[in-house]
Amino acid sequence: MPPEFSLLGQIEDQLASLSDQQLRRQLREVQTPTAPSLIVDGEPLTAFCSNDYLGLAADPRVIEALREGALRYGAGSGASHLISGHSVAHAQLEARLADMQAPHLIQPRALFFSTGYMANLAVLTALAGKDADIFSEALNHASLIDGARLSRARVTIYTRDDLAALDRLLAASTASTKLVVTDSVFSMEGAIAPLPELLALCERHQAWLVVDDAHGFGVLGEQGAGVLQHFGLRSPQLVYIGTLGKAAGVSGAFVAAHATVIEWLVQRARTYIYTTATPPAIAHALLTSLEIISGSDGNARRQKLKAHIEQFHKALKLKRWHLLPSETPIQAILIGANQPTLDAGESLRAQGLWVAAIRPPTVAKDTARLRITLSAAHESAQITQLANTICEIEKL
Ligand SMILES: *Cc1c(COP(=O)(O)O)cnc(C)c1O
Repeated sequence: MPPEFSLLGQIEDQLASLSDQQLRRQLREVQTPTAPSLIVDGEPLTAFCSNDYLGLAADPRVIEALREGALRYGAGSGASHLISGHSVAHAQLEARLADMQAPHLIQPRALFFSTGYMANLAVLTALAGKDADIFSEALNHASLIDGARLSRARVTIYTRDDLAALDRLLAASTASTKLVVTDSVFSMEGAIAPLPELLALCERHQAWLVVDDAHGFGVLGEQGAGVLQHFGLRSPQLVYIGTLGKAAGVSGAFVAAHATVIEWLVQRARTYIYTTATPPAIAHALLTSLEIISGSDGNARRQKLKAHIEQFHKALKLKRWHLLPSETPIQAILIGANQPTLDAGESLRAQGLWVAAIRPPTVAKDTARLRITLSAAHESAQITQLANTICEIEKL
C-alpha cells in the first residue's frame, strides 16, 4: 500500500472513534441571511444558537454601511496594518471603541483585530513571557487557553468559586508579570465572572486583569459598552477584549487598555503584525453598528432581550434537566451524557427549533448540555414555543 494511504488510514480510524463516542460534528449549510428564521440544508428552522444577540448581523443600516465602505475603500486592505493596510476607517473605529471604554480605563486606546481569537493570542503572548505567571479561569474560552500556552508563561488554573485560593496563588507568585485571565460571561454557562472581586485581588497583588467580553460587549451595560460598564469598574490594570462578530453583528475584535499596553501590542503582537488587515469596509460597517448599540435603538434591543430571558425562565419548568443560573442571553440546560443531549437536540430540530447540543471537549465530560442563545431579533412567541417544546421533550 502506498504510504499516503496508511497515513489517511490513521486519520480515518480516529474519525471513526469520534463517531463511536458521538463526538463527530457536522457542518450545516445556512441558505438565508443571519436571523432567527433560517433555511438550513433546505429545512426551515428557528435558530437559538447564533450569537447575534441584538439582531444587527442583517440590519439594513449595517448592510448599507458595509456596501458604502466597500465603495469608498475597496474590497480588501491589501497589506498588514504596519505596512500599508491601516485605513482611516480602522482608525475611526479604534477611536470610537476607545471612547466607549474610556470611563473604565486610564489613558485609553483601542486596537482592532481580525478576530477575537487573534486578539486573545495577542494579549497573552505580548504581555506574558517565560517568566510570567498566568492565572486562568477553568472555564475560559479555547483562544485564551491557546494564548496562555503560546506565551510559554507558567499557567495555573483557578475557579471563580474559590477566590481565596486565587488570592493565595497571587501572594505566592514571585513573577514580575502576573495576569489573571477570565471570560466575562462564561460562554457555555451564561454566568458572569465576579469581576469586582477579581479586580480587587489584581490591584492588591499588582496583577493585570485580562477580561474577554465576547458575550458582554453590546449586551451588558447601560449603553452596551460591556461588562466594565455593567459593574462600573475603572483601573489602569484592566486589559479589555471585546469581539465584534457577536452582538455587534459584523466581524473582528478589539483590545482596549492603557495606551502604553496598546503600543506594546502594535510593536510585539504577532497576530496583529503578521496578518493582512481586515477589509476597511468591515470597520466602516462597525461604526454604524456601534452607533446603534450605544443609542436608543440599542437600548430598546437590550430591553427586549431582557424580557425574552425573563419570559424563558418563567415558561421553562424542568423536572430532570437543570437550567444553569444565568441573567445573560446564554441559557444552558445541563443534561449530562452525550447521547441524550444529541437526542434532545434532534427532537427539537424535528419541531423546527435549532439549538446547539454541546459535548466534550467543548465542555467537561458528563456535562453535555443544550446551549440556547436568545436574541432581540426573536419574537416572544418563539420564546414560548422553545420553552414549551423543551418541557415536552424532557418527558420523552
Ligand atoms: C467567540 C469567542 C471568542 C473568539 O472571537 P472570534 O471573534 O469569534 O474569533 C473569544 N472568546 C470568547 C469567550 C468567545 O465566545
